[in-house]
Amino acid sequence: MTKEIKNPETIALHGGEYRSDPATTAVAVPIYRTTSYQFKDTDTAANLFALKEFGNIYTRIMNPTNDALEKRLAAIEEGLACVTVGSGQAASTFSITNVCQSGDNFISSTDLYGGTVNLFTHTLKKLGIEVRYADPVNPKNFEKLIDDKTRAIYAETLPNPYLRVFPIEEVSDIGRKYNIPLIMDNTASPIICKPIEQGAAVVVHSLTKYIGGHGTVIGGCLVDGGNFDWTTNPKRQPLFNEPDASYGGAVWGKVVPELTGANVAFAVRARVVLLRDLGSALAPDNAFGIIQGLETVALRMKQHCSNAEKAVEFLQKHKNVERVIYPTLHKGEIGDRAKKYFKGGNGGLVGIEVKGGVEAGKKFIEALKMFYHVANIGDARSLAIHPATTTHSQLTEKELLAAGVTLGYVRLSIGIEHPDDIIADLKQALDVAGSVN
Ligand code: PLP
Repeated sequence: MTKEIKNPETIALHGGEYRSDPATTAVAVPIYRTTSYQFKDTDTAANLFALKEFGNIYTRIMNPTNDALEKRLAAIEEGLACVTVGSGQAASTFSITNVCQSGDNFISSTDLYGGTVNLFTHTLKKLGIEVRYADPVNPKNFEKLIDDKTRAIYAETLPNPYLRVFPIEEVSDIGRKYNIPLIMDNTASPIICKPIEQGAAVVVHSLTKYIGGHGTVIGGCLVDGGNFDWTTNPKRQPLFNEPDASYGGAVWGKVVPELTGANVAFAVRARVVLLRDLGSALAPDNAFGIIQGLETVALRMKQHCSNAEKAVEFLQKHKNVERVIYPTLHKGEIGDRAKKYFKGGNGGLVGIEVKGGVEAGKKFIEALKMFYHVANIGDARSLAIHPATTTHSQLTEKELLAAGVTLGYVRLSIGIEHPDDIIADLKQALDVAGSVN
């Protein structure tokens, strides 16, 4: 059905191959709570292991509930294939370890979720993989860091706290000159941004956020755009051009297109090598939970975006707000990127600097009645956090400023409640925060 439908509202409900359960005709995707699958005969079993036939082997590597979710996610992101994993962190880890081995490097945008910074700077370093950071304000910064061992470029479409939309096409073009894929974390802007259409080779998501949408499930995914040439420059991508001793000498860049007729070597390698070995599988129960969210994500994104625009309008006029941070409020080229890359809204994340520094920021958070004070984004409910006293509390004032966090900075994840109720809660909390001035 996927090829005939183009609208995200419809793809979210009907995208992929699942129409009804082949065994029972159930319309909702069932939870296949099984670890393993009975092989038809010994030849079939041998073929499945040799990748001569595709089918279910073991739930660490594939599961029919996850499969329905994966195909729908691939359709939503306009990619060719998708692999789900146990968390957004696992998706980021897989996206790099699927292209880099010890001695290699990759380039990452400096505008990044803190958990990803830890993974890249510390954990991957211990595995011998080097991250090189580039400031995305100027796309040329990425090119300067490329050398013979650079295997990928990584960035987020809508990173906080700055909320500067990433120059996807510009950086993808630079990467493609050197046969280097761009991996985009699109967690904060599903539906409204399509990185693969703009040249990204791979999209990763924390499904925990807007796609799950209800704050109930942790999950992640990698979508293979099917638009990247892994084999023309074999030295650039050794993991796709050299025989894999762990899989009978398979050369992934060659064998996958031969077996599947599709350019999905990245997704297949992530599944049959990384899921097999690292084991960060998404449980089918959680895949089911994420499907419930996915089915309404397009609708929710509209409400998140329109509520955020209304909140921004209100916040800009409030006397206790020093500054409002929102993708379209950036001046010049950076603000223009929101117009270029986002369609149908500019996201649900809003930053504010409350007048009065740390004390005002704390008072504001404590005074909120409807917003939840949590370290999360993308829930249907409105959320807020004061980084200076929580996620970034280990940093000095200078380090905070370098990370784009002022003492009074509060990150808001605007939910899908009625906009009047969101604004009323913000107003009463800002009035309380104003008492410190
Ligand atoms: N990427 C982004 C942009 C995030 O905000 C997060 C979590 O906050 C992650 C990845 C990691 O996702 P998870 O919490 O599902 O592991």
